[in-house]
Amino acid sequence: MNAVLEKIRKGGPAGEEELHDLLALHTEEELDALYRTAYEIKCRFIGKKVSFRGLIEYSNVCTKNCYYCGIRRDNFHADRYTMSREQVYEAASFAWKASYGSVVIQSGERSDPAFVKEIETLVRGIKELSRNELGITLSCGEQTEETFRKWKEAGAHRYLLRIETSDPVFYGKLHPADHSYFQRLECLKTLRKLGYQNGSGVMFGLPGQTQEQMVRDLLFFREMDLDMIGMGPYIVHSETPLAASFPDFALHKEELFTLSLKMIACARILLRDVNIASTTALQSLHPSGREMGLLAGANVIMPNCTPPSCKASYDLYEGKTGAEKSPEEARKELQDSVERIGESVVFNAWGDSPHFAAKRKG
Ligand code: SAH
Ligand code: SF4
Repeated sequence: MNAVLEKIRKGGPAGEEELHDLLALHTEEELDALYRTAYEIKCRFIGKKVSFRGLIEYSNVCTKNCYYCGIRRDNFHADRYTMSREQVYEAASFAWKASYGSVVIQSGERSDPAFVKEIETLVRGIKELSRNELGITLSCGEQTEETFRKWKEAGAHRYLLRIETSDPVFYGKLHPADHSYFQRLECLKTLRKLGYQNGSGVMFGLPGQTQEQMVRDLLFFREMDLDMIGMGPYIVHSETPLAASFPDFALHKEELFTLSLKMIACARILLRDVNIASTTALQSLHPSGREMGLLAGANVIMPNCTPPSCKASYDLYEGKTGAEKSPEEARKELQDSVERIGESVVFNAWGDSPHFAAKRKG
């Protein structure tokens, strides 16, 4: 057994130096030990259980222009859609009846009054149709404090806003000049102040990204005292400036997949009692990607509840999986795969992280 892992298993600290060592592991044996250690910690702090969140990809209309994203404003090939109120309610009802316990409404970023009002209406509507039972997470980009407050009062209680990278200079290379790292950071602080459960995360495997940056990303999660982590591999989308600037860049799928599992495992080892998502992007790298993510320390899966007609156009990156599956098929398949690895699904609960619960008590 690797000496650093041995120390961590005995309760030793996981700091900058240890994270460097862990991210550098590469033999099959060492990686197995890393994932096993993270999984043990997950079982100890969370249990042998997985929470589901029904994902509703509300709209791919976006006013931002992130260099890596397939639905950025200036991708004129994107087939734009916004779900109708009825479609959103139908998707939320499905999630409620499927006992998922909570939904995530994710969307391209807009901050015009009509959008702000519509999200507020949808949050209230979902609360009403589910007799207040469904928990609601929003992931609709950067907003003003007033908007965040309105949405919270309407009934949203968690917010996901990835910082994308914790390095402000690197952030500048991934975004146009009018996108601000510090503004995004401010949003995370505002969300905390307003009492949301805060989720953030990064992409990894980006061109020009270093291991030092990834270690700092992990430490950033701890400094920000996050309740949920949603991070994932960068996957090229050909109709983006980042793809055009790095025409030959593509980490080998296997390499990217291993990096994804390592990042999940390191986040679990460092943060212990937070919610960590095993994301769809993992599944597009490996057919059992999400299950392997769980065995490396993740505890949340977000089954897609977006109607098939919209899902295919929520094209953040190429090869996004699941576009052909109906929500019903996806539910059955996911539950089976969770049970196959000896875990059980927590149904009919919001699935807040023990980390958040502990802060509340404290
Ligand atoms: N507009 C909101 C939410 C939707 S985008 C926001 O940006 O916060 C959700 C996430 O998709 C982003 O945070 C980003 O990390 C991820 N994403 C975008 N393009 C990607 C790509 N090419 N590969 C992997 N993830 C990508
Ligand atoms: Fe818009 Fe989010 Fe894509 Fe950026 S990452 S272009 S904000 S959808």
